[in-house]
Amino acid sequence: MQASTLARDATATVRATAPGPAMRQLIRDLFPICRSITGDGVRDTLARIGREIPIQVHEVPSGTPVLDWQVPREWNIRDAWIKNSAGERVVDFRAHNLHVVNYSVPVRGRVSRDELQRHLHSLPAHPDWIPYRTSYYAEEWGFCVTERQREALTEPDYDVCIDSEFRDGSLTYGECLVAGATDHEVLVSAHVCHPSLANDNLSGIAVATELAKYVAARPRRYSYRFLFAPGTIGAITWLAQHEARASTIAHGLVLAGVAGPGGLTYKRSRRGNAIIDCTMGFVLRQSGAEYAVQDFSPYGHDERQYCSPGFDLPVGCLMGAPWGTYPEYHTSADSIEFVSDAALSGALRACTEAVEVLEGDGLYLNLKPKGEPQLGRRGLYRTLGGPDAADAQLAMLWILNYSDGRHRLLDIAEKAAMSFGSIRRAADALIAAGLLVECAAPPAGQPSRAAGRTREVI
Ligand code: ZN
Repeated sequence: MQASTLARDATATVRATAPGPAMRQLIRDLFPICRSITGDGVRDTLARIGREIPIQVHEVPSGTPVLDWQVPREWNIRDAWIKNSAGERVVDFRAHNLHVVNYSVPVRGRVSRDELQRHLHSLPAHPDWIPYRTSYYAEEWGFCVTERQREALTEPDYDVCIDSEFRDGSLTYGECLVAGATDHEVLVSAHVCHPSLANDNLSGIAVATELAKYVAARPRRYSYRFLFAPGTIGAITWLAQHEARASTIAHGLVLAGVAGPGGLTYKRSRRGNAIIDCTMGFVLRQSGAEYAVQDFSPYGHDERQYCSPGFDLPVGCLMGAPWGTYPEYHTSADSIEFVSDAALSGALRACTEAVEVLEGDGLYLNLKPKGEPQLGRRGLYRTLGGPDAADAQLAMLWILNYSDGRHRLLDIAEKAAMSFGSIRRAADALIAAGLLVECAAPPAGQPSRAAGRTREVI
């Protein structure tokens, strides 16, 4: 099951569109699709993403054991409604797919108003919003309605229909592997199982898709695996099928609800001090924007699976306001308009800057550690002339002092409170002057930059 790849020089196949409008358009196109943890909604979603980046689609049959779980039966829905005595649809799946409890069993018939009430979900505090509810692992049926719709149900009984179907089919997920110079991987994972909700799942999909285009267009040491899978069961299925591959994941990010209100929040991996944790903390601090960093906790998005103790992968989660902390969460108010272009672009920028850090980071050794080496004699002031010369000199002093084989460039950028780009450029100048050399054995899971230069692109 080899995932499709984008070779380094295959970027011409990627549409050259400005990322902002491309993300907005993708969200618009994906919004109406009725997704769930299985079924045609996921397939249609992957097909649309596949118009942006190459996607390899995998189908895993219902009943397949996956870790402690089993791939569920496939669910699809054609239509659903509640009709009044005049035969009018007073609740209509075709008007909004949140109106049906996702994974409802099929139902058809006349029910009393009292019985119907037991199958309705609404939000009294927000009378015009439709809640999002699921019944993945329970055999139930139900409708989600606005409080106003519920109040308008005054007749003694109603015709109800949920034209859904369960069958032995499969669970569908998609991958895009952007091959790098080494097979050390960066995993970027977004869930694809929510129906018409824009921030909680489409924003993550849109940012992941643009990030794939970004990494495909730059030289890279790492290979990048973009995984688009239904929440929980999709990540569990992927892990079950890639236990060996999981050990090559050097860094990972779950992208979920990245464009909601407030600034970005980064939730650390279970390890707490993985390079991705330091990288995201650094990138968010440097952004100058509002942000928060949280420690790992065993609930939330698919980081729960990647960070389960049997895997304990260095995978964190980037989100906007954390799930459940804003009233629009899991309601029809999480609409296309709820997602701002600024928030989408901010999330993408945090991700691209993280890629720059991961690609440029490394562990180096000062070859003249006794006293400060003479920079002028080696022409280093000249090399780094111009308006940024003072900064550049400062960056060199920081690098020379801390390149003792224990501090990475990221650590040094952090200590110096300088941009990673300035530190990286100064390191390159010091390497060229023979003052700095990369440590021979990078920590496990970290490819050296030298290896990146010499290995063939996969
Ligand atoms: Zn959700």
